[in-house]
Amino acid sequence: MIRLDHVTKTYPASERHAVDDLDLEIETGMTVAMIGPSGCGKTTTMRMINRLETPSSGRVLVNGRDVAETDQKELRRSIGYVIQQVGLFPHMTIERNIATVPRLIGWDKVKTDRRIDELLDLVGLDPAVMRKRLPHELSGGQRQRVGFARALAADPAIMLMDEPFGAIDPITRVRLQDEFRQILKRVSKTVVIVTHDLEEAIKMGDRIAIMRDGKLLQYDTPEAILAHPADEFVKNFLGPDRAIKRLSLIEVASAMGPAGSRPAGVSIGPSASLHSALALILADDLAGLDVKADDGATVGYLSREAVLSAHR
Ligand code: ADP
Ligand code: MG
Repeated sequence: MIRLDHVTKTYPASERHAVDDLDLEIETGMTVAMIGPSGCGKTTTMRMINRLETPSSGRVLVNGRDVAETDQKELRRSIGYVIQQVGLFPHMTIERNIATVPRLIGWDKVKTDRRIDELLDLVGLDPAVMRKRLPHELSGGQRQRVGFARALAADPAIMLMDEPFGAIDPITRVRLQDEFRQILKRVSKTVVIVTHDLEEAIKMGDRIAIMRDGKLLQYDTPEAILAHPADEFVKNFLGPDRAIKRLSLIEVASAMGPAGSRPAGVSIGPSASLHSALALILADDLAGLDVKADDGATVGYLSREAVLSAHR
């Protein structure tokens, strides 16, 4: 668990707090997306978790231990860090980049080598092709995969990701979001991901932390935030289509009723989102959809009314 205990950060020669009395608890295994306007203190918060910055007051605890009292090497091993511009060492091959932390903590060559192959496989890169390349010989998306692999090298319990997809083209970004999310779930990490993209926060976060001017405005599930924004700022930040965004978080199965006697003719899967369902309903001006399982069996009926009332 990560606990930010009334953390304030004021940079030297600055009048205002970069982070202002931030009090936040992140449960083990959870992914928290931190979001807010540029300059609201997201990066500073993240860098206080891995002690690249020191709080002016308050404490950061990881599993009950103050990071100020944990040695740097231990933090490097237990907290992976991914940043937007990747931060790969340009003169080092991909394999050496990934080996940074394993070398630092004294792994032998055999163990490190095995881990490099395993990680490159995990992030969808061919070790035989990639190991000896230099960062500039890779695409932006590939570099981000390597940065991610490097952060995972010593199997840290915590991953900090600061706008990891910020410099990636939109199509690659969506693919990386999906893949990274799956990998992080599978290896059950505690994740803090900073983003300025609401869609990304909704997609990646089990919880969203919304910040403004160094303060935490709201910390809750994406669904709860979209349903009940804490104030006008959050409401505006979420945008006028927040009710529609929320439909993308609700599964068809939770809103459907029993199968009707007459098929609607157009079907959708039970684990699809109500957002997709609404799109189908509007496209053909339907009264509802048949809900069909993977094997083709009809398992329910989703009426237009059920979709429209789901957000109440
Ligand atoms: P975000 O990541 O949300 O864009 P930051 O944490 O980078 O925000 O910055 C928060 C505030 O602290 C901003 O006003 C920024 O200008 C200031 N700041 C960030 N880093 C430094 C620094 N090293 N020295 C002085 N001020 C800084
Ligand atoms: Mg930042």
